[in-house]
Amino acid sequence: MIYNLLYTYLFIAGSVFGSFYNVVGLRVPQKKSIITPGSHCVTCDRSLRWTELVPVWSWLLQGGKCKGCGTRIAILYPLIELTTAILFALSPLVVGWSKELPVALALVSLLMIVLVSDITYMIISDKVLLFFLPLFVLLRVLSPLEPWYNMIAGAALGFILLLLIAMISKGGMGGGDIKLMGVLGIVLGWKGVLMAFFLASLSGALIGMALMAAGIVKRREPIPFGPFLVLGALCSYFLYDELMSFYFSIMTFS
Ligand SMILES: [Zn+2]
Repeated sequence: MIYNLLYTYLFIAGSVFGSFYNVVGLRVPQKKSIITPGSHCVTCDRSLRWTELVPVWSWLLQGGKCKGCGTRIAILYPLIELTTAILFALSPLVVGWSKELPVALALVSLLMIVLVSDITYMIISDKVLLFFLPLFVLLRVLSPLEPWYNMIAGAALGFILLLLIAMISKGGMGGGDIKLMGVLGIVLGWKGVLMAFFLASLSGALIGMALMAAGIVKRREPIPFGPFLVLGALCSYFLYDELMSFYFSIMTFS
């Protein structure tokens, strides 16, 4: 009973935090304050009332448009709110009500901010990474990987792996992606980093081809790799064991 309440609380908190991560992801790369001014429509500059700030719900009620000027509000924002809410509520189901829970919530937080700014500007902000780097180290000291130096190995592998690929592919990978993978390595450890990178490459190739086939992006047009790293990191962190046993079950049957 008390746990049902806690899951509900995490869901609601997640949607509110998700709403804040939209603001962080949109403003930090533009070097704007994340506190002032309050939320406003970027087209008509009207300040939003609290009824327009309820996560997901306001967007649905307003049909995805600004109440003042009717400008469409990207579906990305309610999706970030909803995804953060779901992942916050799912986290204790995977890692338990343990010392690992803050790690999971912090990881989801970084990944949601990265998603917003990489999709919007193709930028993964150093400021955001520099905020999460010491936080992850601290949380990993409190909730260590096995063995403890795995967080250092993960960070080094993530950074070096993407650096090498950036050098080989000459521009296929941004500096933000390289630094992001280094920071994620602290949370994921070296095996987790490898899986995240593998899943990111696989999903990036598949979705990239699908977008090209559908004519949404042109050949050679850059698509940000960050969102795929986000997807890869989430799957690697939350589903590592499931994905490994799935992989081995395919290997033994073929
Ligand atoms: Zn407006």
